[in-house]
Amino acid sequence: MKKKECEKCKKSFRMAFRASYKPVKEWVFLCNDCLIEVRRDNEHYRYGGTFKG
Ligand SMILES: [Zn+2]
Repeated sequence: MKKKECEKCKKSFRMAFRASYKPVKEWVFLCNDCLIEVRRDNEHYRYGGTFKG
């Protein structure tokens, strides 16, 4: 099974979420916990889909 590394906590997950959360639109993969964290009060947050390894 393929895994994606979370851009924020640097751990590998089978399921990750593609998102952009910075003023510069840059797509990264995040785990569920980090996604919730970056999404909070973030006007730059964009959801780009779910990765399943
Ligand atoms: Zn994470």
